[in-house]
Amino acid sequence: AGVDSPTRTHQTASLSPALKQATPVVVDHALGSWIHGTDGRDYLDFTTGIGVTSTGHCHPHVVAAAQAQCAKVIHAQYTTVMHPPLLELTERLGAVLPLGLDSVFYANSGSEAVEAAIRLARMATARPNIIVFQGGFHGRTVAAASLTTAGTRFSAGFSPLMSGVHMAPFPYAFRYGWDTDTAVDFALRELDYLLQSRVAPNDTAAFLIEPVLGDGGYLPTPPRFLQGLRERADRHGILLILDEVQAGFGRTGKFWGHQHAEGLTPDIIITAKGLASGFPISAIAASTELMSKAWPGSQGGTYGGNAVAAAAAIATLEVIENENLVENARERGEQMLAGLREVCAPFPGIGDVRGLGLMAGIEFITTDAAGNTVPDAAAAVAVQQATTTQGLLTLTCGPSANVVRLIPALVVTADEIDLGVARFQAAVSSVSL
Ligand code: PMP
Repeated sequence: AGVDSPTRTHQTASLSPALKQATPVVVDHALGSWIHGTDGRDYLDFTTGIGVTSTGHCHPHVVAAAQAQCAKVIHAQYTTVMHPPLLELTERLGAVLPLGLDSVFYANSGSEAVEAAIRLARMATARPNIIVFQGGFHGRTVAAASLTTAGTRFSAGFSPLMSGVHMAPFPYAFRYGWDTDTAVDFALRELDYLLQSRVAPNDTAAFLIEPVLGDGGYLPTPPRFLQGLRERADRHGILLILDEVQAGFGRTGKFWGHQHAEGLTPDIIITAKGLASGFPISAIAASTELMSKAWPGSQGGTYGGNAVAAAAAIATLEVIENENLVENARERGEQMLAGLREVCAPFPGIGDVRGLGLMAGIEFITTDAAGNTVPDAAAAVAVQQATTTQGLLTLTCGPSANVVRLIPALVVTADEIDLGVARFQAAVSSVSL
């Protein structure tokens, strides 16, 4: 049958070549830290759907909550008919959100939540500019891609991008060959210089930053840098927006990634990914006072705050609390980083092993003809592919694509971490660096 046309012949559709496949694995089913492929192999999953399935694949409590909600109501559209899971989720998020950030708006993806945060910041301040930090990843919609500096692959070829976005340096100590303090001093000085030379504070709505650069290279943002941003934001009436899409919800060993910077409170938090263990839901949180500067009807969306996703998010919060997953992320994260540092030490092609909680990045380098240290994307890709062969799923990241990142589930066990580190070592050893 198909579309009604006398000349139509049969066709089979296929996935767009615009997708770039990191592994050849096709999953049949998955549980906890494990993916069972249609190839019959079991893979230890240190990608978690890019930091999403934090309670592990198909956690029974999350599955039960989603199944029960499916049988009650799937979709009601929250500006048309409200539903209890969203009200309950909102109430429960209050217990984990920073004090004062007591108003929540829901969308579906990280990118949409980023856009909602930018919309709110511009409406609330009546200022046009957003300052982002080099290497930041904030999503793939045109506005979110405009804020993304984690690689030209995310924004090249479809300009013009959204205007009013300015980039300041990130304190990337390893890249500069400096210690963290020197890199922080430099980045804060350059930010001040940007505010004097090009982007007037009074024209600036917000600073937007991740607590750990995710797709931009798995670089923890030094707490003193975040505090420097907070101090400048307060001084100039600029909002501080924390993109916790990848680093939030327990992943770094604290509930929010920015909590590693003592006493710091953002003006807006953006969350998604780990929020519902795999169901698409995202959120921003701010004070009611700030949120009310966006008038009713200025934010919305058909699927935002979906009932099944909201039920899964409630179950996710329960699992995180009942199974002490934030603490597990901290302990297993320390174990993973120590293990990786040990097995990576003999390889001169590995320049840096870093991370925070269950986010670990291994940066590959080489030397160019002039004797300079330069990124080695080929090595990173070779190692990432070799981990699949060893039965360990990993991803690459970084503007130069020369970092392999490990993102285990928050339920990962000590034995699974040891196995993952051993498989990573086998993969690195199988590639000539
Ligand atoms: N912000 C951060 C920090 C992210 O890591 C991502 C996704 N990798 C996004 C935003 C965009 O989220 P989504 O892919 O759900 O649009």
